[in-house]
Amino acid sequence: MAALVTGVVALAACGGGDEDVADIRELAEASTEEITVGISMYVLVDDIENPDPAISSKRSEEELTVILAGMNQIWGQANIRLELDTLDTIEVDPDVLAQVARGNIRAFFDKLGGSIPFTVTGPGSSLISGFYTKRVGGSNGISPLGTGWYMVIDEPSVFDRRVSSHEVGHILGLQHTGADRGRLLYSGTNGTTLTREEITLTRYVLTELLKARR
Ligand SMILES: [Zn+2]
Repeated sequence: MAALVTGVVALAACGGGDEDVADIRELAEASTEEITVGISMYVLVDDIENPDPAISSKRSEEELTVILAGMNQIWGQANIRLELDTLDTIEVDPDVLAQVARGNIRAFFDKLGGSIPFTVTGPGSSLISGFYTKRVGGSNGISPLGTGWYMVIDEPSVFDRRVSSHEVGHILGLQHTGADRGRLLYSGTNGTTLTREEITLTRYVLTELLKARR
């Protein structure tokens, strides 16, 4: 409850007073139709022909489609559907991948649209992009605040579909909860539940993000 109220107040702050907040909340809660959002998923390797197993993901693109199907089961609770735009394996400079493996994800995100030869941030890009890499320091996954990007490692301590869905939750404005291990936003468990408040907030945030793109 607190997270939703805070989120809506923050988003409505430039519009006016309490009535606006109540209106936004009422509209958000009343909306139930399916919301579709594009996602791109990438396997990160240093060399497609001869990947170095110390730093390259060993996942297949097929595996990512299975993960996506699982993510759609989880996000179906909110009637949000992730639709695959791009599925690809991309080559990243071995020095960059080695830094990512040590937990320096900036080394990678700084190169997007630059020496990593594809555009993740342009007008035609997906709102959400998932990068599957060997290791990220000691985390299962990570999403830099304020981006539509997340990374997931090869062997997380929880289900792949769960850690991927959890990162998407962060992209859609959710924060961690310590309240219940069954919840998607409880850190480091296999919980997949979204509360009613989380569903309302993520649907609202996603609708606004999609509007901003038009
Ligand atoms: Zn998290």
